[in-house]
Amino acid sequence: MTNQNVMVSESKPTIGVKITVTLSNSSLFSKHITISRKKVLKKLDNEGGPKVHAWVDSMRDSSPTRVKSTDSLSETEEQSSWIAHHPSALDKFEEIVNASKGKKIVMFLDYDGTLAPIVEDPDRAFMTNEMREAVRDVAGYFPTAIVTGRCRDKVFSFVKLAGLYYAASHGMDIEGPSKSRKYKKGNQGVLFQPASEFLPMIDEVYKTLLEKTKSIPGAKVENNKFCLSVHFRCVDEKSWGTLAEEVRLVLNEYPKLKLTQGRKVLEIRPTIKWDKGRALEFLLEALGYANSKDVVPVYIGDDRTDEDAFKVLRNREQGFGILVSKVPKDTNASYSLQEPSEVNEFLRRLVDWKRSSLRQQ
Ligand SMILES: [Mg+2]
Repeated sequence: MTNQNVMVSESKPTIGVKITVTLSNSSLFSKHITISRKKVLKKLDNEGGPKVHAWVDSMRDSSPTRVKSTDSLSETEEQSSWIAHHPSALDKFEEIVNASKGKKIVMFLDYDGTLAPIVEDPDRAFMTNEMREAVRDVAGYFPTAIVTGRCRDKVFSFVKLAGLYYAASHGMDIEGPSKSRKYKKGNQGVLFQPASEFLPMIDEVYKTLLEKTKSIPGAKVENNKFCLSVHFRCVDEKSWGTLAEEVRLVLNEYPKLKLTQGRKVLEIRPTIKWDKGRALEFLLEALGYANSKDVVPVYIGDDRTDEDAFKVLRNREQGFGILVSKVPKDTNASYSLQEPSEVNEFLRRLVDWKRSSLRQQ
């Protein structure tokens, strides 16, 4: 067994982190074997590598979180095999809309890497005007929610559309659409905040992390209200160990918080059983579709945290998960799109299809 990667992936909320070992040279794609966290950490400790090593390995693998290829397959072969299993949502557009005929589509859209490209400075992750128009038009025909790890105020400052649901802070801060174009500040319009008791703790950890990471060039701590992001996209790889160690030391003091990971970002969240998948279920229920057979939820996202939502759709055997990725990744999504510009085209085609089907009625 060579090239073993230890990836810290989505956690069971009450346990902390789950460790997945990727066997790189085993079959068509890597086999993911989940073993107990205790076992792996004990092994790492025995080998002289504390938990932080697993984090650093995971940070290295995090962008993109691709599945490693086998020696016998070229990258092109790997790509086409992956596409066969997760075809382009544009190529299969007819299949998607045919399955949605006579049913109610509900759109769920991640923000970073889905509606806007991933950029070095997370404060400048702007979406294009074309994308904003496409999202606005989609929301005119289908209930639409932005589901993001960002805080509500921040994502609204990017999207600037009032007629949407916003499930911010990984779904821990859900707000309904407002009628006016004016954004509701404060708690007006809030539908659900399952982690409100964690606010003082998150704030405290934010301040501590700011202090502890200020000497690491490029590290950026973002306060997403109910969760925190430690961005390491601009941190030299040599300093990743130091950064992970600082985060670990802080988190040791807060057993009610857990660490998960996205694309070049460490995410700190309350250990409650809540994620983007739960937010999707909550919103379907809020819209009156909890047990409906006539609803087609479409979720588009690019990151590990979106997998919780893809899993919900798979388990419900309802709707479509669409992963935004240029490279093969292990995913529960059914379809793929390569980048935000393809998401834009998909949304645009959905609007055109809806308009023409309404004209034919
Ligand atoms: Mg994303």
